[in-house]
Amino acid sequence: MYDISKIREDFPILSREVYGKPLVYLDNGATTQKPRSVVEAITNEYYSVNANVHRGVHFLSQQATELHEASRETVRRFINARSTNEIIFTRGTTESINLLASSFAESQMQAGDEVIVSTMEHHSDIVPWQLQAAKRGIVIKVIPMNDKGELLQDAYKQLFSEKTKLVCVMHVSNVLGTVNPVKEMIAEAHAHGVPVLVDGAQSVPHMKVDVQDLDADFFAFSGHKVYGPTGVGVLYGKEEWLDKLPPYQGGGEMIQSVSFEKTTFNELPFKFEAGTPDYIGTTALAKALDYVTAIGMDQIAAHEHELTQYAMQRLKQIEGMRIFGEAEHKSSVISFLVGNIHHLDMGTLLDRLGIAVRTGHHCAQPLMQRLGIEGTVRASFGLYNTKEEIDILAAGIERVSRMF
Ligand code: PLP
Repeated sequence: MYDISKIREDFPILSREVYGKPLVYLDNGATTQKPRSVVEAITNEYYSVNANVHRGVHFLSQQATELHEASRETVRRFINARSTNEIIFTRGTTESINLLASSFAESQMQAGDEVIVSTMEHHSDIVPWQLQAAKRGIVIKVIPMNDKGELLQDAYKQLFSEKTKLVCVMHVSNVLGTVNPVKEMIAEAHAHGVPVLVDGAQSVPHMKVDVQDLDADFFAFSGHKVYGPTGVGVLYGKEEWLDKLPPYQGGGEMIQSVSFEKTTFNELPFKFEAGTPDYIGTTALAKALDYVTAIGMDQIAAHEHELTQYAMQRLKQIEGMRIFGEAEHKSSVISFLVGNIHHLDMGTLLDRLGIAVRTGHHCAQPLMQRLGIEGTVRASFGLYNTKEEIDILAAGIERVSRMF
């Protein structure tokens, strides 16, 4: 049984008011709220365990190290990686992708080599490649999509050449909600001998992810979008790939020995984790993963699917409604515009009704160009949202529409 009232009680912020109205939080694509267990893990560790990890012989340092490394094991289990050597802690999806872009391009790509990305990518999976393109002369190729917001698989297959070195594709679109067929896309890339990076920022919070089943070579996600703290994320990489890649940053932790003549690097995963890690954040991330695991990822997916179906049907009844993203496989994200109402006006007026939605280009300007618009209003649902909140959203949109 999916006990939504009990779940909502775990998130104190959901019972607050804004402008005298009950908060309706529908900006989960940007960040999710945190359950008590996550916030308490942070205070508990600061109050009773805090010490720098890995380098200390003393009791607290060892305990903090155990917590930090246990969190790595929790992440491993959560995405079903083979080994904790394959779990690199980063600041989030953006840093994970930048790490990979830098280390991969430096060691595996030459001028003229190609990386394939998709039309719907987030800026964090476009700009790092553009930086590498400017530095090393690599070429970016783009998978097109249809008007429903689905990537064109035939066109994708045509993009491969002997110069293709990597495919980078998002699992779920943060604007359209499209669930891309990444397993099939990975198989296609592998048939060409090309590895794949999956941006899982918007899939990990909403569905069961198994990196071995997907056969992803690299997979990135952020803690704060899966009910964990800000400032911590993950880059998964197959060990055989991570072994081949050079470090991203230099400093403490990532070395075995340093002299002015020669420095040797630490083994995985520490080779990619220079400096003091956010070991409090990793403990809290593990708590968040434990939290969603206890509810059940399949149960969360089913709940959110029902909400999305309900919201799609409810919003489509509104006059002048245009929904962007009608893919057959769609996650709990709905982007829309109503008549000629500017997305910013809609978002601002909904906010006055207590409804938090996101407006703008959602860090996907190339996608906006493809859709021929500047921005959208985006409602994105999480495990604690309800049908009543969707009714409030629909009534709010209707009220704003009447004002224009
Ligand atoms: N990729 C996708 C699909 C996203 O939705 C986001 C955040 O909105 C990111 C990457 C970047 O995540 P972060 O800002 O946590 O690094």
